[in-house]
Amino acid sequence: MAGTNAGVDRRKFLTGTAAAAALAGSTTAQDPASTVRSDLFLKEEHWKERMQAPDDGKKYGWVVDVRRCFGCHGCEVACKAENDIPLGNYMRQTIYHDYEKEQGGLARIMVPMACQHCEDAPCIKACPCGAMHKGAGGSVQVDYDSCSGHGACKEACPYGAIYIDPVANQAIKCHNCTHRVDEGMDPACVATCPSEALYFGDLNDPEAKVSKMKARLEAEDNLDQLRPEKGTIPRAWFAGTKDRPIKEWEPKIPGEGKSYHNDAYSVYQWKKGGAE
Ligand code: SF4
Repeated sequence: MAGTNAGVDRRKFLTGTAAAAALAGSTTAQDPASTVRSDLFLKEEHWKERMQAPDDGKKYGWVVDVRRCFGCHGCEVACKAENDIPLGNYMRQTIYHDYEKEQGGLARIMVPMACQHCEDAPCIKACPCGAMHKGAGGSVQVDYDSCSGHGACKEACPYGAIYIDPVANQAIKCHNCTHRVDEGMDPACVATCPSEALYFGDLNDPEAKVSKMKARLEAEDNLDQLRPEKGTIPRAWFAGTKDRPIKEWEPKIPGEGKSYHNDAYSVYQWKKGGAE
């Protein structure tokens, strides 16, 4: 499986047994308005170091231009091929949603979706194996020498971005194609998307395509983030239009304890709500 350790000393982390004990009554101070699953969080001392990104001066992030996605699944297929994702599982998925426009008529929205690489990542706070951690550019990574498939990360992720591989019994999620990015390439999905709906890069670099796109959309007041009430500070932003407002498709994105699934794009006929 792809993934990085990013210099994290896992010997300092909890073993599965000790972690299970640490889980009980382990919540840390939380914004009372947040609806994140803080009951799953370990004490801060168990995840604080893992929440620190390496000091590489980079801030990796994503902009998803929902206006340009036409649902070809190119990003999904590229992701599967690049990362050996088996049938029925997804590290990245294009979510389909049909809805009735205010001015009448149906619209179909397609949204490429993956891990939001949260700055205040619930998956890291909940991981009892010490596997979930920050890697290059602040991306959220899994250390596969540590992951025991405990699944607390999946329960805590507010965006359904993790699945547990049934064979390896380990947590799988988008890792920003670190193995490609480290070699100066784009993630496989970005390189494959034929409509240029996906932007990834270093937000600390004002010349990066992702930074320019983000600045342009900010100036147009056209950037949304997914479920801000969760307080996760995602590193992904979505651009829409009046015909593709985030409030319409947001309920379609899986939440805590869920993963992407085959029915997300089973749209056999145009109808309000589309596939559930
Ligand atoms: Fe973790 Fe989920 Fe946030 Fe990704 S989207 S960093 S898996 S909580």
